Amino acid sequence: MAKINTKITDGVHKFTLPIPYDTGSANCYLIEGDKGYTIIDTGANTEEAKWLWKMELEGKLPVEKVIITHIHPDHMGLASWFQERYGTPVWISTQGYEELLKMRSLFKDGQYEDPIRALSPYHGGPVLPKRKDLYFLYHDFLFEPDRLFSNHEKIPIGNDFYEAIWTPGHSPDHYCFYQHDKHILFVGDHILNDMNPIILTKQQGENPLKQYFATLDPLERLAADYVLPGHGQLIDDLRGRIGKMRAHYRKRLDQTFQSVDRKGKTAYEVAKSVYGSIQSHDRAMSAFIQVITNLEYLESLGCIKKEEELGKAFFILAIEEE
Ligand SMILES: [Zn+2]
Repeated sequence: MAKINTKITDGVHKFTLPIPYDTGSANCYLIEGDKGYTIIDTGANTEEAKWLWKMELEGKLPVEKVIITHIHPDHMGLASWFQERYGTPVWISTQGYEELLKMRSLFKDGQYEDPIRALSPYHGGPVLPKRKDLYFLYHDFLFEPDRLFSNHEKIPIGNDFYEAIWTPGHSPDHYCFYQHDKHILFVGDHILNDMNPIILTKQQGENPLKQYFATLDPLERLAADYVLPGHGQLIDDLRGRIGKMRAHYRKRLDQTFQSVDRKGKTAYEVAKSVYGSIQSHDRAMSAFIQVITNLEYLESLGCIKKEEELGKAFFILAIEEE
């Protein structure tokens, strides 16, 4: 594994922890201040991560507080452990707290009630089983935050104030943090260097791609010398990277659009024509959900129409022939 603690600039360290998910590792950040470290994101709730944090913090500054970019388990999994072991206050956003409460309500009777289950038949997909395998994540969502912050609030991180910038898309509660004088920007999973952030609809009525594109514009204009993501390598050229990501999502939107016809198809039918047959169930499902996300976005632009018939949604080309 690559080096675990990397100095980024004076008083700012990247702390990379292994996580039991596809991305392989998560970046947490330690920012020094007179009152101790502010930690941005904790990594996932694993024994290995706890051990690595203990080793890292042993004999060093106290931990002043933990701030969470978004409440996905690979970023906030150890929030309650920090509260219990070190008495560390945990700060999350107002949107993060809403998500936390919503997530808690989805774990019932030893199972996770994935909202995607309701979405799948509506879009012509299969009836999905309830998830018992994700129940272990329930206790990650049980902590109570000590402080909430909201959009554009200036919050202390180390000895500086950072602007908390609400950037929904990857998750409804995602935040970036920006230091206006030092040009340091923490971007969580909003902008990644080595992969394209996952932007997926989770339930009816969401249009995360629309939110995502809207939040890229103001970020692109920021002067940023250090752009620090939640996974992978630092981003050297913020504007260049945003341009590449936009091109990636546009290409996928275009593929989806090309598969819509004048007769109307369900999202599941569109996914099959875009991706062909996909062997693994998980991959097929994420391709399907990706297509739902793309179709909802294209519909919001007016390129396609959505019509409902017998509780199912059909997408139809909206552009009239000459
Ligand atoms: Zn992540």
